[in-house]
Parts: sequence; structure tokens; C-alpha cells
Amino acid sequence: MTELLYLKDSYLKDFEALVIESKERKIVLDRTAFYPQGGGQPSDEGEIHFSRGKAYVFKVYKLEDKVIHEVDKEIDEKERVKGIINWPLRYLYMRYHTALHILSGIMYHSYKALVTSSQIYKDKARLDFDLQDFKREEIYKVEDEVNRIIKEGREVKIKFVAREEVLKDLIRTKVNLIPPNIKEVRIVEIEGFDAQADGGTHVKNTKEVGKVKIHNFINKGKHNKRIEIILEDDRSI
Ligand SMILES: [Zn+2]
Repeated sequence: MTELLYLKDSYLKDFEALVIESKERKIVLDRTAFYPQGGGQPSDEGEIHFSRGKAYVFKVYKLEDKVIHEVDKEIDEKERVKGIINWPLRYLYMRYHTALHILSGIMYHSYKALVTSSQIYKDKARLDFDLQDFKREEIYKVEDEVNRIIKEGREVKIKFVAREEVLKDLIRTKVNLIPPNIKEVRIVEIEGFDAQADGGTHVKNTKEVGKVKIHNFINKGKHNKRIEIILEDDRSI
């Protein structure tokens, strides 16, 4: 089993690890800071430095309790390696991920809208909502609200909470989606605003998100509305 370093420290940019499995340029490490795609957040990219040079990591994903790193070179088992995250790309995903939580918080508080799916890309991100009565014009109000929360510079905290506590306190969290064997739930809390069970990486303060622009609003049916956002000061990666 791999220790998931990014769950406790989203700002970890490099780390040392041991290769515990290696087959056809797919490696498993004893610990990793590489985020495996999931929960709408794409896979990290980066490099793994090892005795014979460096390999490019182009895809990371979970397979049962393992994290698979797809690399472009063979790396032997039992090698001690150094992993280096493509930080500009990861940081962009962190900013988008926190932006989506702010958006979902506003849509829930103002319209009781629940998220049905989410996806972050390199140049935008989107949330789909189960939402019926919503006028297109209201999207500008939503955009203002998102930017207000960002500007307030609220702290984003990561907590590990006992499953029973989550059931008591966080009505919005879809606890029923969390497998029964999970005793502790990771919570991402935007101070005084929103808390969600989440496995993704986030910025420490909402200010880091920068200005959000609603890029598109798509009516995908009676219950399904899609909101796309872009980060205006999207420092190119
Ligand atoms: Zn999330």
C-alpha cells in the first residue's frame, strides 16, 4: 500500500520513495506526492529521478489500494528514487479545485443545488448541478459571490474526522458514498463557509485562486445545469 503524501500536504513538490513494484513502465512506490486522477481532478505529471537518469511521469491513477505511476523508462524494483511534481500544473489544478468548492458552496447555499459531476481541465473546470429553477441572468450574481469569497481570503483547512462526526455535522457530505470500511473522513473546509468530504488537493487560502470568470452556462435538461469557469489570471503552464 502506498502512503498518500498529498492528502496531508498539498504543497509537497518533491519527495523520496522506494520502488516496490515495477512492470512494463508502470511503477508503485511506498509513498507518493503524485495525485492520482479522481474526483474530477486530473492526474499529476512530473519526473522520477533514479540511478540511471530521469523518467517522465505522464499519468498517475489508483488501482485498488495501489497508486500506479506510468513512466517513459524502466525503473527497477527496490530503487530509491526522487519524485518531482510538475508544480505549475498541479498548482493550477489546486486553484481550480478550490474554486469549484466555492462555486458548489454558493450554489448549495443559495439554490439548494447539489453537484452531480465535476471535471477540471488545463484551461477550465466545470460542475454539473441538479438544478431546476434558475435564470441564466443569475449566473452573474453567482460569479460575484464566488469572487467575494475568494477576496475575503478565507483559510482552507484539511481535517481528518471520525465518520460518526461527519454524519452528525456535515449534512452536505454524501457519506453514503464513502465505503463503510473508512473510519476517518478527510474534510476540506473553507473557513466559515463550506466543508466537504474530499480527496483532492487545495490551496491554503481562497485568495490564491485569483479571479474566477463564469465561462459558460449550459442548460442540459430540466434537472441538469452545467457551469464552466476559467481562472482569469491563468498563469500559463
Ligand atoms: Zn473536491
